[in-house]
Parts: sequence; structure tokens; C-alpha cells
Amino acid sequence: MSIDSAILAQLRRILGRENLFESMEKRIVYSTDASKAAAVLPDLIARPTSTEQIAGILKLANSAGIPVYPRGAGSGLTGGAVPVRGGIVLDFEIMNKVLGIDRENMTALVQPGVITQNLQKHVEKLGLFYPPDPASSDFCTIGGNVAENSGGLRGTKYGSTREYVMALDVVLASGEIIRIGTGAPKSVTGYDLVRLFVGSEGTLGVFTEILLRLIPLPEHVETVLAHFPQVECAAASVCMMFSRGITPRAAELMDELAVECVRQYKDSDVLPREGVFCLFEVDGPRFAAMDESERVVRICEENGATNVARATSEAEREHFWSLRRAISPALYNLGRIKLNEDICVPRSRLAEMLARINEIGERYSLRIVNFGHIGDGSIHTNVMLEHDDEALRKKGEQAVGEIFAAAVSMGGTLSAEHGIGLTKAQYLGKEVGEKEFSVMVRLKKALDPNGILNPGKFIDVFPHSQ
Ligand SMILES: Cc1cc2nc3c(=O)[nH]c(=O)nc-3n(C[C@H](O)[C@H](O)[C@H](O)COP(=O)(O)OP(=O)(O)OC[C@H]3O[C@@H](n4cnc5c(N)ncnc54)[C@H](O)[C@@H]3O)c2cc1C
Repeated sequence: MSIDSAILAQLRRILGRENLFESMEKRIVYSTDASKAAAVLPDLIARPTSTEQIAGILKLANSAGIPVYPRGAGSGLTGGAVPVRGGIVLDFEIMNKVLGIDRENMTALVQPGVITQNLQKHVEKLGLFYPPDPASSDFCTIGGNVAENSGGLRGTKYGSTREYVMALDVVLASGEIIRIGTGAPKSVTGYDLVRLFVGSEGTLGVFTEILLRLIPLPEHVETVLAHFPQVECAAASVCMMFSRGITPRAAELMDELAVECVRQYKDSDVLPREGVFCLFEVDGPRFAAMDESERVVRICEENGATNVARATSEAEREHFWSLRRAISPALYNLGRIKLNEDICVPRSRLAEMLARINEIGERYSLRIVNFGHIGDGSIHTNVMLEHDDEALRKKGEQAVGEIFAAAVSMGGTLSAEHGIGLTKAQYLGKEVGEKEFSVMVRLKKALDPNGILNPGKFIDVFPHSQ
């Protein structure tokens, strides 16, 4: 679509010329996200500096029927920020301030464009802790995290972003500004609108200020790297830790193919040729954490671990994590395209789920790499395609469909933390029934009757006709 000159003039009045971009270079940059699921040029990129400006933009867009796509860092893995119907991209790059930290009540008030790691570092200097820690934390934004209800590396103990969002300023599609939630530690006043908006993937409203809960910074962290002959031993170790009262803050799996990719990528002979790795972290008061990490080592050994190492220095801890962080780029050794999914199953079904994925991979003759946050049953399943070919992609998508069906049949879910966006819209019906989807559609219509907020994503695709 193209935006007429009268609207353009009004947008310039709202934002100032310096924060409205129309150049082809900028439009290309904002045409896609980390998923590379699609690339569509937006007409304009707006870089607002205040809630009021956003309200003005939405009011205008709503009356003219122009699509608006909120965007943080574009690190989303499901195409959530891709402007599939053109229109305006709302970029929060300069709304990136930490507006205040309340040390007594342990809260942080932030703008949506704050980079997650910047907030983490900022509060840690004050002895406070913001636990949600997506592996993309050094570039993703808090606004994107709230919109996706992002999880991450410390989710096993501390949960996802949702657990930390106390209140939100939201601009609705009409341009109306609402303030939902409270700074009080407890509240049951009316419907819990904060929970509705968290994870809404930019389809219900635009967050402009976010009040986050903080907790005290744990005194000490212990890191353990364990090598297991088989994935079943790793899964059994995780379950045993919980049954013995240990909640690791991180429990990260690298399956055999992931290890092989990292070996090649880092040119590292340190990693053995066979078996899988798990990275565990426990935290708390120094002596309690040290005691727990000894118990973690013993549990791994009881479950057949052949090599278990505790990090003895910050450098060694960093080395262990560098192996985990290398997985994403290293996967491209196996193929140019990865169908990157993030299923989640109850922890007790992990080994069974991993076996099913293996069986599906063999049946379709596809290489499937599994890694991720197995402490909370969340597996990043990557179906690797050697080249971009329609028939191969179709085969990959069929395999993904079977993986989703298996996860749901085990009491699990399609998406633990990356959201549905564009890439998983066609599969939503595997988990969400028709009646339940129709409730979602009615909510969307009530809040955005003209469908201007992030159109073309999961809520606009009727999944039961797929
Ligand atoms: C290497 C890598 C590792 C990753 N690891 C993890 C991980 O461990 N855990 C995890 O959960 N995710 C992970 N991700 C996915 C991604 O980083 C998260 O989904 C993140 O929250 C996206 O943030 P963003 O700022 O990039 O948002 P974007 O990708 O820009 O947008 C994501 C969605 O949020 C909406 N949105 C953005 N800002 C707002 C706003 N202010 N108001 C309303 N809607 C808004 C957009 O419209 C879009 O639908 C990873 C991604 C990469 C590339």
C-alpha cells in the first residue's frame, strides 16, 4: 500500500521530519526479522519519542486503515515484526531509557526499547536481579520480550517475562492510552489485563512504559558442564534433580548433532565425537549453591555422565557458555535453512519427545538438531534444510507438523517462548480448538476492530482450515 501525502504531512507534524524514514535503504532493513520468514517493504519507519506521539500515529492509522507494525530489535524467530502488509513500522530505538529503579519496592520502570542486557547490568550494580534472560539478551528489547513473553536461559528456576511484568502503559489501535496493572505486589482488581497483553505479539496494543518486578541478586552462581553418552541420561538427570529438591536456574542441552556443529564451528577437539552435553547452573547463598552443585555432579554421575566439570573460574564459566552460545551460528554448517521451533513438553516426557523427533527425522531423511532449555521441558528443534528448494521446504514443514502434533499429544505446546507470529500460524489449530480460537478473534476485534495492529499474523489466519 502507499500512504497519501495528507497522511504523510500529519505524520511529519506528529513526529518531526527527523524521526520519519522513507528511504529504500531503511525500508529494506525493516522488511524482515531474524526468522527471515518473509521480507516485505514497509512504506515508512516511524521512530517515536513518547506515548503521546504513538497515540497520534495510531489514531491516524486507524482512521485511514494503515497497518502498523511495532518492532523492537527484530530478533524475533517467528516473523512477528515483519510488515507483511506494508504500512508503518513503529521502531522504539530512541525510546530506550530506564526511567527509574525503586530499590525499596524492587521495581524498574522502563521504555520498550531498552536492550534487555542493559537493564540486567544496570540493576545488578544495585544488587538487584532481572532474571528473564533470552539468549539474544545483548540485542533484543524489553518491549519485544513482553510481546513474546520471552523465556531464556534462567527460565527453569525464574520463569518467563510474564512473571516480572507488573504494569503496562498501552496504546490501543484507536489511539486511546490505557494504564493496566499496579505497582502493588498483589492485586485482583478486575480482569488481569496485563496477562492478556503479555505475549500478544504486537496484535492487541503497543507498550510504551513497562513496570518490571526485580528480585535480590543471588550471591553466588555455580556452573557445571556434563557429558552424557545419550540424551536419555541427560533427561533423567534433570528429572532426578527436581525430585531431589534441586531447581537449577539453567539446564541447557546440546544434542549429538549440536555438539558436532559446535566442534566444527569452534574447531574444538575438546568436545568428544559422541554423546550429548548439558550445562547446569545453580545459584543462591555461596555455601548453599556450592553444596547444590556437588549434588548436581553426583546426580549426573548416577545417570551415566562420563565427564562432569565444575567451572572453577569466571573464565572457565564463560568458556562453557561460549559453547552453548555457539550453537545457533554453528547450525548453518548443516544447511542454509533452519526451521527453528521451540516446543515444550512436561519434563517427564522429554526423553520420549526427543526419541519421537529422532524417529520423525529418520523417516523424512532430515537432520534435526535439538538444544535448549530442557530444565523447563523446552526444546529448540531445528529442522535443517541443505538448500532453499520448495519440495524440500514442504517436506521440512510436514516434519515440523508431526513434531508439533507429538508435543501436543504429550501434553505439551507448540511454542514455549518464540510465539506464533507468521511461521507457526498454520499449525495453531493443532493446539488451540475452534471455540478457543474464536474467543481470541473476538478479543482482537474488540480491541482492534479495523485490524491495523500487526495484521497478517496468527490471529488473521484461521488455523482450522489448514
Ligand atoms: C540468537 C537468538 C537467540 C534467541 N534466544 C531466545 C531465547 O533464549 N528465549 C526467547 O524467548 N527468545 C529468544 N530469541 C527470540 C527473540 O530474541 C525474542 O523473541 C525477543 O523477545 C524479541 O525481541 P525484539 O526486541 O527483537 O522484538 P522483535 O523481534 O522486534 O518483535 C517481536 C514481537 O514483538 C512485538 N513488539 C515489539 N515491541 C513491541 C511493543 N513495544 N509493543 C507491542 N509489541 C511489540 C513485535 O510486533 C513482534 O510481534 C532468540 C533470537 C535469536 C536471534
